[in-house]
Amino acid sequence: MTDSFDVLVVGAGPGGYVAAIRCAQLGLNTACIDNQVNHKEEPALGGTCLNVGCIPSKALLESTEQYHKLIHSFPAHGIKTTKASVDVPTMQKRKESIVEGLTSGIAQLFKANNVISIHGFGRLTMDNTVNVLDKNGKISRTLLARHIILAPGSMPSHLPTIPFDHEFVVDSTGALNFEKVPKRLGIIGAGVIGLELGSVWNRLGSEVTLLEALDDFLALADHQVAAEAKRQFAKQGMNIHLGAQVNKLSKSRTGLAIHYTEKEKESSIDVDRVVVAIGRRPATEGVVSADSGVGVDDRGFIQVDDECRTNVPNVWAIGDAVRGPMLAHKSSEEGMAVAERIAGGKPHVNLNIVPWVIYTSPEIAWVGLTEKQLQDAGHDIRVGSFPFAATGRARAMEEPNGFIKMIADARTDRLLGVHMVGPHVSELINECVLAMEYQASSEDLARTIHAHPSLSEAIHEAALAVDKRAIHRVN
Ligand code: FAD
Ligand code: NAD
Repeated sequence: MTDSFDVLVVGAGPGGYVAAIRCAQLGLNTACIDNQVNHKEEPALGGTCLNVGCIPSKALLESTEQYHKLIHSFPAHGIKTTKASVDVPTMQKRKESIVEGLTSGIAQLFKANNVISIHGFGRLTMDNTVNVLDKNGKISRTLLARHIILAPGSMPSHLPTIPFDHEFVVDSTGALNFEKVPKRLGIIGAGVIGLELGSVWNRLGSEVTLLEALDDFLALADHQVAAEAKRQFAKQGMNIHLGAQVNKLSKSRTGLAIHYTEKEKESSIDVDRVVVAIGRRPATEGVVSADSGVGVDDRGFIQVDDECRTNVPNVWAIGDAVRGPMLAHKSSEEGMAVAERIAGGKPHVNLNIVPWVIYTSPEIAWVGLTEKQLQDAGHDIRVGSFPFAATGRARAMEEPNGFIKMIADARTDRLLGVHMVGPHVSELINECVLAMEYQASSEDLARTIHAHPSLSEAIHEAALAVDKRAIHRVN
């Protein structure tokens, strides 16, 4: 039997499920097909983000941050505790119950919005037809739709020389699920996942070493933000080796030895577990058959235009499987925009104004271009910065580290980038995202009243500092 729909969405991550719900809200008869299962082998909507990405990682980051504060910050507040201890299985159960609550919440939203949820692997063939494959690869259903939105997401990249065995050598999913704190943890790649999951296990007592291939730390971030973050991570005991070319893994007397070359010198470290976190690649294998005609580039990304159209009429693609940052909020915005385009609307997604956040301690966040990118492009800029240490709120919170840096066009004063490292910058950045989306100037932020005492005063002062008139620091 062939079922037909107005819209068929392949993948129920933050790109796909949001697209499906928005399509249904717009009155389109919508189905969403997804193949993700949870640890009980039950279908689990929400994709990488809810099941094995954003949400479980933030649950563990929150738990371990509380523990870290209990030991390291509470004494300064005059709060004394008897010896604190950690129960990792309870921490993991809390994480799982948060994931379960949210993934089942998507199932309820699908029901409430009349989105038909189909479990299986969707493969696009010719003429807007999608075959649903069961877990044995057999076609169980054939579906037709006027519009198809491909949102298959991404998966961890692997190192051919150090393949995953999913016990001692794991990807991010494995690193979210350790039942015991590894005594020594080696992480290959000091990017977002390496730093977030490295922080989790470091806070619980693991001896964490990160081996990063590039000479620059957090090459995408502003260089002063990266330098401050690196200083704080080093203080927390994370060992970060830059310019480290990982060669191979071998058994050692006490565990595993990662062999690497650093500054032309051969070295090795002994660890108990290895996390490979060297980036993610589009999960597009088998999603579009050759006869569908949909263009896929040599790295596996589905080729789309600025509005997420593929080269085949009425076939769209969004999220991690297409160009642009691999971030949940970017996927969701594309999902919403495609739904509205299908319904005849004229939505807007500005990929130049996507916030980035790294949920370590201190948190790191930015939007727009860095000072170096702007200088390299020959842009004439003015820069203002302000340290959290000069705000009463950060002091009261016992979190004085970090700063906010604001960059504006020297002629027009339009905001071009804001870069932050410090407490709760994951929340603070959004004011600057809004300001940039509204094409605000630094003067606009400088003239906006910010509550006192609040961390957001650092945004106000950084804006004043662009014009060298910050009050609570010497300009
Ligand atoms: P996905 O979330 O990957 O969803 C795709 C879904 O489609 C999956 O369920 C997959 O099983 C399914 N699927 C694939 N192919 C098929 C098919 N052919 N048929 C049926 N179903 C299919 N981003 C942030 O913005 N903030 C964070 O804090 C953050 N933390 C992260 C932490 C970790 C550890 C990881 C790994 C990622 C994190 N990310 C974060 C990235 C974020 O998870 C992704 O950017 C986001 O999930 C991408 O959404 P998506 O909908 O494009 O794809
Ligand atoms: P990443 O791109 O952030 O970092 C990978 C790091 O590994 C880079 O610094 C890279 O230079 C390094 N690397 C690559 N090959 C290497 C090698 N052979 N040896 C040593 N180092 C090597 O990727 P990730 O940390 O795996 O995360 C994947 C993506 O998931 C992120 O880019 C991001 O889009 C998303 N994510 C986002 C968040 C968030 O928003 N907070 C959290 C986790 C993941």
